[in-house]
Amino acid sequence: MLLPINYIPFLTLLIAASTSVDASLSERVEEYVLATLAENGPCVGRGGAPGVCISTQSCSNGGGTYISNKCPGTPENIKCCVKTACGTGNKGNCRFTSNCDSGKTETGKCPGPTDFKCCMPKGTGYPRPKLPSSSSGCKSVAINGAKKILDAFEGKVKRVDCIRECKDPSSSDHCTGMATDIMVADGGVKTTAGEPIAEWVMHHRKELSLKYVMWGQKIWDARSDKVKPWSQWDYQACTVIPNCKNGDRGSNTRNHWDHVHVSYR
Ligand SMILES: [Zn+2]
Repeated sequence: MLLPINYIPFLTLLIAASTSVDASLSERVEEYVLATLAENGPCVGRGGAPGVCISTQSCSNGGGTYISNKCPGTPENIKCCVKTACGTGNKGNCRFTSNCDSGKTETGKCPGPTDFKCCMPKGTGYPRPKLPSSSSGCKSVAINGAKKILDAFEGKVKRVDCIRECKDPSSSDHCTGMATDIMVADGGVKTTAGEPIAEWVMHHRKELSLKYVMWGQKIWDARSDKVKPWSQWDYQACTVIPNCKNGDRGSNTRNHWDHVHVSYR
């Protein structure tokens, strides 16, 4: 059918209108896609800190701080969120795992998407030591207790010892596999690293089924002592050292300066 000549301008208008609708729709889709990509995407925070574009609420809830105008194309409440201290000892910072050079990350310490994690510095602390095996004679209460301590003090524990052969089985809980030595330094080296572990053990006496804990010439007995800082604990017994002073048994290992002794029940 041939259209009368006076229809042509109308059709032209219609075509123009429909293409402009298409154009604005595709622009809007493109904007939406870009915004979606930008949201949860990387940004650069103050001082060049690695950040992520997320809602200000998620940022604050995750312990981060945010700055404006660093996440172009995103809704008003999406801002560049950074968290420059996170993880064990607050020694890490939050960044995308692809940008974590050490490869050491801690999960659940950063706001934002799951691949925005707490990146810990390289070479801090010890790699996680092996737990004593039950086949060695170490009891499950001791193995489970040591696991809880390792979980709470990642990188702080060098080794865990449990069972020990004894001439007199009543001489130590190690003889029966009911004690762990949480090594926090090389054997014989005095450190302060065990003090927070020893106090943590005291505070978690119930879940650890703790009998007693020893650190730095001192002992805290879960069966009789009130919760108090390590500095106020009683001195350890002298055992085979006659008339020792202040629980001094004569070596850093015997004095529990290189390991925390944990007895379970
Ligand atoms: Zn011990």
